[in-house]
Amino acid sequence: MPSREMPSGHRPQRRPLKIFAFDPMRDRTPGNRVTITVPNEEARPGPEGQAVTLLPGPRGGVFDVVDYDGATESYYPPIDLNHPDVLMQSGLEPSESDPRFHQQMVYAVGMKVIENVERALGRRFKFRRGKPLLLLPHAFRGANAFYDPDFDPDGHRGAVLFGYFRASKERPGDNLPGQQVFTCLSHDIVSHEIAHAVIDRLRPHFLEPTNVDVLAFHEGLADVVAIFQHFTFPDTLRDQIRRSSGDVAAAGLVELAAQFGWATGSGGALRRALEVEEPDPRRMETVMEPHERGAILVAAVFDAFRTVHTRRTSDLFRIAGLEGSVEGKDLQPDLLERLVAEAARTAQAVLAVCLRAFDYMPPVDPTFGDYLRALVTADYELSPDDDQGIRAAMIASFRRRGIYPSDAASMSQDSILWPRHASGLELPDPLVKDILFNLALGFWGEEDGSLPTEKADIARDLRSDIFKGLHEFARTNAAALGLETVPRNDKRKPIRIDSFHSASRVGQDGRTVFELFVNCVQTLTETDGPSDEFGGIPVRAGCTLITSASGNVRYVISKRLGAAGVAPEKSARLLCQKAFVTELDARDPMTPYRSDQAHGTRMKARASLRALHGGLPR
Ligand SMILES: [Zn+2]
Repeated sequence: MPSREMPSGHRPQRRPLKIFAFDPMRDRTPGNRVTITVPNEEARPGPEGQAVTLLPGPRGGVFDVVDYDGATESYYPPIDLNHPDVLMQSGLEPSESDPRFHQQMVYAVGMKVIENVERALGRRFKFRRGKPLLLLPHAFRGANAFYDPDFDPDGHRGAVLFGYFRASKERPGDNLPGQQVFTCLSHDIVSHEIAHAVIDRLRPHFLEPTNVDVLAFHEGLADVVAIFQHFTFPDTLRDQIRRSSGDVAAAGLVELAAQFGWATGSGGALRRALEVEEPDPRRMETVMEPHERGAILVAAVFDAFRTVHTRRTSDLFRIAGLEGSVEGKDLQPDLLERLVAEAARTAQAVLAVCLRAFDYMPPVDPTFGDYLRALVTADYELSPDDDQGIRAAMIASFRRRGIYPSDAASMSQDSILWPRHASGLELPDPLVKDILFNLALGFWGEEDGSLPTEKADIARDLRSDIFKGLHEFARTNAAALGLETVPRNDKRKPIRIDSFHSASRVGQDGRTVFELFVNCVQTLTETDGPSDEFGGIPVRAGCTLITSASGNVRYVISKRLGAAGVAPEKSARLLCQKAFVTELDARDPMTPYRSDQAHGTRMKARASLRALHGGLPR
């Protein structure tokens, strides 16, 4: 349609869309119906080389919304976000009864999650093989929603499936008794589920429950993403901070998925970002259920956020002559605006540290303690002086909840930072050259798929060479990387390069620093059928390798099976994984009734997010 083309340079960068910032239960309370903006997806080459922008669905480069209702076995007509009537009103008005708004909601909230993730990581984010994630806003009847990594195994695509259900008749809260509740209309549920998909992409082995923290980490981080996303909606934030007289922890922003919690009859929101009572470090010893345990991590992060925010705004309260309690007081408009701006800025900084920490996590078997180390190291690398005080606040709030790295000598910053690699390991020069060339191709648009064919071929061959080079490096330096040494042609205990990426950041002296992050994973035991003592979860070792642009290895963050010289079957990690499986078996009333086949895959079944989210609410 050349006649409708705008002169070049006039294409809007952002697309405004209306959403529920919380869910339909809060309906017309201020700050709930908001207009947010998401990136206006650029044209990309389609299968026949034609330019494709956002198609009805919406179907774009990041998400593919497919509105198939499994309960009625029918499709709802897809929304066309590029239709002039829709464009003219910044997307459809929030509505519970129009499925097209539901499609708009999951798309808009999802795009916002990806934008926040990209901003935090400082790089482009794509789902597996660059393919869009499937979103099914009305996938089934039921009080559940979940991410399924293997929904479309042939297409290498995962999906998020949202259910819908009737609200409790006895204790529906502000819902009508028995009214239809759509999980796809809850901002928190949508962002939580999409965050699961993001985490799975960043660390594909973090859905393998090898210790009590693994699934809890997934749940906790998914909540962190959902909670901090509210702070990127200015109207919502302003309203909440006005009502709470400036206390971010008193605002409705700490409640997650209120409608879902009430509608399922639990008498309150699904979860909270902060404990109601004083944190109790003994809970780390007793709480095993992933959502509850994840909530301890969320509280540690949110508490640190509140500490930093309070410190950064205390002068404003003093200037305004408001020392001591301001509870119930109306805030002067200028003060309110400054508080809103500070809350948004601090939330963004905290979320950035929380997500950047992924680069510093081992690729397998994560613990909360590893996460604290990763957080502190990621933040240290970004700002060695801790001028925002985020690091100190994190260490303090993690300590209050009994979260420690198992092998740290103390809770001082120096003990918590991952140790720098000191034995002078270096990537070989030809490999470094390939990596730098690949980085340059990235700047030319290789990641967007907009390179001309011959250059795209070069890019693909180059990436394949880099994977080969890294694999050879990992194999020859296995011992130094915490992996088991294997002879060249031995097919047992295979080492894989899971991923590599380069990242740039601005160092303290204002110069740009490039780094390379590599994840190597070694599979030590394959799952071996019905008798499998690990319930279908392989035993793996792995390491995250961080090098400078010249190939100097700066960090080796490894999960080795055991110390050098210890027989593998006596390795501490193996014993730990065994003890964890035994503990879950003991707590599981189904244990005596499983068939051999089901017994051999019981840990896999326990890790399914469908099952994990099915037992809600809690
Ligand atoms: Zn979850």
